[in-house]
Amino acid sequence: MNASAASTIRTLTQLRDSGLVDAAAAQNLAAVTERYALSITPEVAAIIQTQGSDSAVGRQYIPHADEVITAPEETADPIGDKTHSPVKGIVHRYADRALLMPTQICAVYCRFCFRREAVGPEHAGLSDADLQTALDYIRRTPKIWEVIITGGDPLILSARRLQTILSALDEIPHVATIRIHSRVPIAAPEHIDDALLNVLRTAHKPINIAVHCNHADELTANAVHALRKLRQSGVMLFGQTVLLAGVNDDAGILETLFRGLVAAGVKPYYLHQLDRAPGTERFVVPIARGQEIVKALRGKVSGLAQPTYILDIPGGAGKVPIGPSYLSGHDGALVVEDPNGLTHLL
Ligand SMILES: *Cc1c(COP(=O)(O)O)cnc(C)c1O
Ligand code: SF4
Repeated sequence: MNASAASTIRTLTQLRDSGLVDAAAAQNLAAVTERYALSITPEVAAIIQTQGSDSAVGRQYIPHADEVITAPEETADPIGDKTHSPVKGIVHRYADRALLMPTQICAVYCRFCFRREAVGPEHAGLSDADLQTALDYIRRTPKIWEVIITGGDPLILSARRLQTILSALDEIPHVATIRIHSRVPIAAPEHIDDALLNVLRTAHKPINIAVHCNHADELTANAVHALRKLRQSGVMLFGQTVLLAGVNDDAGILETLFRGLVAAGVKPYYLHQLDRAPGTERFVVPIARGQEIVKALRGKVSGLAQPTYILDIPGGAGKVPIGPSYLSGHDGALVVEDPNGLTHLL
């Protein structure tokens, strides 16, 4: 690893000095990095140094000049977080579960992020008072059965801050379970330290961590080690993957990723259709292609390694499965297609 890879890249100058983009390319990126946060951790930079800037991992995190171009179907709040936010730091769209967002800071900034207009170091996290107001909303809303801590990336919080939140949730009788969405185990595995593990281990309620990972190359030895420690702390691990053109829009690549996740103790949960945030056109995979890819995995790969292919309907109407259908015809004359493509009358 060279010296520049040892600290997190946060500015265009650091990006250029790292050699991940050349000087000419860097010049075209000023408008992008002015608008959207940049962060590439040493763990991720090391992968890109080996695989190249145009590799699956490079494409996810290296800014691209096209990010300032907004396609007609792209919006700043693609899944309607704002219209479902009763108090600061809470998004409550489904009665039985609510999002709690204590920070808008992430370890890395993904170029395809659907909350890209809302995340970054210039967005402060919740103040102590706002956090209490958000927790009060959860306390007085008995239908909330699950709290999903997201952001930003909640696992970049200090162990103490996370402890405060988890202890408060432990005291709320109607909250049965807690979920944390994070890219930290993959992008900054060194942050999964003893203090953090201890907080997770001593929480009373079951904790599920949805680990975001889009390519097997991100499952480094350090990442796999961090995942093992999380699992040993009693946390259940689920995988979230976004289907991305030029990154993982291929059945073989996803097969390797999903097998790698299961082997690391992570159950692939959702494969997301891309949410259309501004400047993400280069990552679009048509749904028909997504269905074809998902279909190619069925029968060939263990059921444990098959996530649900999901669309979050633009505007905030909710998430629905959009995988291929194996049934056709109608009641009394149903036809089912098997994993080998042969059809059977039911
Ligand atoms: C995605 C999302 C959830 C979680 O949905 P699951 O299907 O339970 O994973 C909850 N609330 C909001 C607002 C969401 O966008
Ligand atoms: S870690 Fe999550 S919230 Fe942060 S930039 Fe990536 S996708 Fe967005």
